[in-house]
Order: sequence, then C-alpha cells, then structure tokens
Amino acid sequence: MRIAVMSDVHANLPALQAVLEHASSAGFEQLWATGDLVGYGADPNEVLALLRQHDVVAVAGNHDLAACGLMGVEEFNRAAADAATWTAGELSEEHRAFLRELPLVRIAGDVTLAHGSIRQPEWEYLLSAEQALSQFELQTTLYSAVGHSHLPFVFEERRNAVPLLREARNGTRVELGDGRLIINPGSVGQPRDGDRRASYVLYDQEAATLTWHRVEYDIAAAQTAILAAGLAPWLAARLEAGR
Ligand code: ZN
Repeated sequence: MRIAVMSDVHANLPALQAVLEHASSAGFEQLWATGDLVGYGADPNEVLALLRQHDVVAVAGNHDLAACGLMGVEEFNRAAADAATWTAGELSEEHRAFLRELPLVRIAGDVTLAHGSIRQPEWEYLLSAEQALSQFELQTTLYSAVGHSHLPFVFEERRNAVPLLREARNGTRVELGDGRLIINPGSVGQPRDGDRRASYVLYDQEAATLTWHRVEYDIAAAQTAILAAGLAPWLAARLEAGR
C-alpha cells in the first residue's frame, strides 16, 4: 500500500490538486491528513470535496475546529481569526458536519495521526527533542504524524539518548526499520520553511520507506482566490515566500 500523508492543506485548492497529481503518478492508494484542512485559503468547500472524494483519513486541526464552530477564535491572530470566520460562513452544511465529526487523534495502520501532538492536538507545536520524548511516551504505534508547525521533519527515537531531529527536504527518504519515528509531512497549502512548493510524504509500506516530496503548484491562482475572497493580502503574499 502506498499512502499520501499530508497536513495543513489550508483550503489551498491549486496546491492540493498538484500534490494529488504527483501522488497519483506515484500510485498512491490512500490519503491521510493531520489536520488544518481549511483556514487561510479561499477554497474550503472545493478542498474538502476533493479530500473526501479520496476518502481521506483525517484528524481535526485548530483551524478546522474554528471553522465548524467547535472552537472560538480568541486565541487566533487577527488574520487567522478573520479567515476562520470567513471559512465558517462559506462552508456547506455537509462539509461542516464532516469537520465536526473528525477526531483529534486517530490511528491509521501503524501511524498515530494528530495535528499538533498526541498530548495536545489543537495547539502544541512539536519541534523540540523534549516534546518528541513526551510524544513517544504516549505513542502506541511505531510511527506518528503531526502537522501544525508546517515544518517538514522526522524525529528518530534513540536508546539512552534524546530523539534525533532531521529536517526533511525534497527527496529526503527514510528507510523504515524497528525504530519509532515522529514525522511532519510539511504543509500542502502554506509552507513555512522557505521552500514555497507544497510538501507531502509518500509512505510506501511494501518498500518500507517514507519520502518527502515538494511539488510546484499555481501559486498565483491561490493568491488571486485569496484576494478575491477579501481575505488578508498577507495570506496571499506569504505563499510566494513560503514563510
Ligand atoms: Zn496550520
């Protein structure tokens, strides 16, 4: 089985389409997503329709919870709060119901999915070795996948040493063995590591590999849609910079 593992699609339809096209040519059969399917971007209904067409196995992120009314926007910055309110007004009843049903943590195969972390799915930015240790304590599967920071990486658990962090770039490949891992596939819809291309991971269970891919997409189209929707221009500008 080949699985496309993605996160933080953020209602960016051109980015999602490009990633799915790339994953299709790699023969993916399943789609897993670690939250923030919507928020920031201008195509929440179209993105959810496309994800659901592929029977996405997903967890909710903070932006999904805000968009479907399960979380207030008090802790969001201004642009994020405005985008969440706009998204809530746009969502079809059916897609709102889909978001409301998403769990915060779920297990897919040998991977635990959570948006921020297992211990705090809505808000934790899992980035340090100390946080990785806490995640491994709660992790009952061999692997876990998180998003939220929009930064692609892999943490390897080590005996008698703190977990080892590796940043993942385009083409980074991890050969899977018995060692436990925490991965972040990076963000499809709003990369923040300085590489503006959409990021995702292809998990090939037969080959026992994880491969990070970066995919060019029509950034101008995503920007035009954001501006036409009246969302903060800064949300369009940052796509260009990948920050
Ligand atoms: Zn996000």
